[in-house]
Amino acid sequence: MKQRKRKNTRKRKKRVMRKRLMLLFICIFIGWFYRNISSPFIIGLDPGHGGADVGAQGIIPEVELTETTVKYLETILEKDGRFRVKLSRKYGEGKEINPRNSTLKSANPDIVLSIHGNADDSGRGTGFECYPAPPGRKNHGASMIFAQEIARQMERQGSTLRGTEGIRFGYYIPDGSGDFVKTIVEAQDTTVYEYGTFGILEGMPCPSVLVEQCFITNAGDVAAFATEEGCKKAAFAYYWAICRYLGVEPRNITDV
Ligand SMILES: [Zn+2]
Repeated sequence: MKQRKRKNTRKRKKRVMRKRLMLLFICIFIGWFYRNISSPFIIGLDPGHGGADVGAQGIIPEVELTETTVKYLETILEKDGRFRVKLSRKYGEGKEINPRNSTLKSANPDIVLSIHGNADDSGRGTGFECYPAPPGRKNHGASMIFAQEIARQMERQGSTLRGTEGIRFGYYIPDGSGDFVKTIVEAQDTTVYEYGTFGILEGMPCPSVLVEQCFITNAGDVAAFATEEGCKKAAFAYYWAICRYLGVEPRNITDV
């Protein structure tokens, strides 16, 4: 009699456990489903510098512009609610280019945006330019369209566009002694070169663009696009470009 009772109790416990497990799986599935339906787009963001790698030094260090802008853009995208942000590195982390590239690739993003600041010795360089995956690369066409949207939105925010409507291609050309020379060509040069391009764009399975937001060596540029307000202004330009490229209506995002 006692034995049967114990058996029944054990059976009941097992049933309860099974039900609880089932409920847990259902909750996890609903959470996963809701997240994927309500936030269908994955945006890969690369703060171009971080940690010990502070980038170029101008009126401000480049890293200040890259991190401030990415933080604003991340906040805007999360407030919008339809985007999931994947960062290539944590803020303040000095991560090399290849692991950053792999981190973004493994997230299978819809688009990738890498943010940098430009610099020159004369201090006269000014304006915005961006670099899509160059001709011959798998996502070149789509990257061009995304780059055009970004340049258009930056112009709307008051920036001047360098090169051909703000778009250029970047290559690393071997100099014969084992080193590489960074070489910039205009967007009209659609030759398919075998040279490497910016590391963050290499092999990206989606449209990818690297932006040079403004010159950190030019006082006017820094005031317009590298202060807190300036970085926020640029972040909104990128947000609108992302929405336009993905074919969704931008939302009225406030309190950023
Ligand atoms: Zn940089």
